[in-house]
Amino acid sequence: MIPYKILLDEQDIPKQWYNIQADLPNPLKPSLNPQTQKPLTPDDLSAIFPMPLIMQEVSTERWIDIPDEVLNIYKLWRPSPLHRAYNLEKALQTPAKIYYKNEGVSPAGSHKPNTAIAQAYYNKISGIKRLATETGAGQWGSALSLACSLFGLECTVYMVKVSYHQKPYRRSLIETWGSNVIASPSDQTNSGRQVLKDDPDSMGSLGIAISEAVEDAATREDTNYALGSVLNHVLLHQSIIGLEAKAQLAKVQEYPDVIVACCGGGSNFGGIAFPFLYDKINGKDIQVIAVEPSACPTLTRGEFTYDYGDIAKLTPLSMMYTLGHDFVPPGFHAGGLRYHGDSPLVSQLVKDNLAEARALNQLGVFEAAMLFTRSEGILPAPESAHAIRGAIDVALECKESGEQKTILFNLSGHGHFDLTAYDDYLAGKLTDYEYPEEAIKKSLANLPKINL
Ligand SMILES: *Cc1c(COP(=O)(O)O)cnc(C)c1O
Repeated sequence: MIPYKILLDEQDIPKQWYNIQADLPNPLKPSLNPQTQKPLTPDDLSAIFPMPLIMQEVSTERWIDIPDEVLNIYKLWRPSPLHRAYNLEKALQTPAKIYYKNEGVSPAGSHKPNTAIAQAYYNKISGIKRLATETGAGQWGSALSLACSLFGLECTVYMVKVSYHQKPYRRSLIETWGSNVIASPSDQTNSGRQVLKDDPDSMGSLGIAISEAVEDAATREDTNYALGSVLNHVLLHQSIIGLEAKAQLAKVQEYPDVIVACCGGGSNFGGIAFPFLYDKINGKDIQVIAVEPSACPTLTRGEFTYDYGDIAKLTPLSMMYTLGHDFVPPGFHAGGLRYHGDSPLVSQLVKDNLAEARALNQLGVFEAAMLFTRSEGILPAPESAHAIRGAIDVALECKESGEQKTILFNLSGHGHFDLTAYDDYLAGKLTDYEYPEEAIKKSLANLPKINL
């Protein structure tokens, strides 16, 4: 019988990350310098990123060695367990077999430390003393703060002001690991001061916080910037999730028919899916599903085109699915899934039909979270609950058809800091929200015009 938890030994942690850029049927379009609109050069990035990460960003090598210093920190919680969701299967009365990879066991409670540790390491060996970053809901800020404390780096986190006040315990966690948290917009940067001058009561946004962190990093010699999702090197580091899952499934002679993950910037989706997409590109029949909220439907209703990563247009232009850089999603409870754009790698794979996207409403997502909590016992992050809903939908299709598919989904994090969301759900305060077509058209009308 297949056990409830399929575990690997510490020495079985993969020693290399998988880079899907080596295997893309259609290579990525180059990112562009926001001023000149010419393809980005390594020099353009060197003011805010260390050279090893810039080289990984553009690498087409299939396998990239994980440094020993990074592996030794991964050992604090990796390999993460792969669970067979026997109790959930029983609750659903489905013939499908459901597996989930539990990234909630990391010290920060999500998959984000997989890249935070690597990014802190490469900055450290490049002589950098301090990192600046932004955080919305606080997941990325806590992961980077953990990483900086382990490598002895200073860290400043610009935290969107509304979350700074609404999510005090994520802030406490960031500060406990030793980072400095600044509510954004702040009076510490030109971008922050400009916003405050126009609107002294601004509660901030991810776009503003990115502008503040990038400005901080670009104007200080000892400081670099770190991003928690979207970029190629971030998805590279996250491939450890899928590589471990593949080894764990092989241990019990299993292979997934369907892979499901939630998708905000694309890092946990890419992390679990890319090592399996390697097989799909080479002919294997697998269904790969990225799940997003219908209130921020980037992959399902956005356009595949060049766009900026932030509102202030400081970041490079990337070819991706986007709802427009000034798209502001409504305030729903999955802070990690509110980005207007998506990873260029994930976008290209969706464009090429190697992966598909589904948009789900928040009430159905929370129903799934409740069923999961009450059967498997783990309280999921609202982001991860999108993957749970996606997996449950496939399992219910199997119940209809009688098929015994093997489903693998990524549990990207636990929801212990998201209990306000659960309170609201239990109090009946949550509603569904479909983004109006008009509003999407409006923000798409502001897409940059690129002449290539
Ligand atoms: C940040 C976050 C996400 C969304 O980011 P991706 O880059 O799309 O993975 C999903 N789940 C959790 C728990 C997160 O912290």
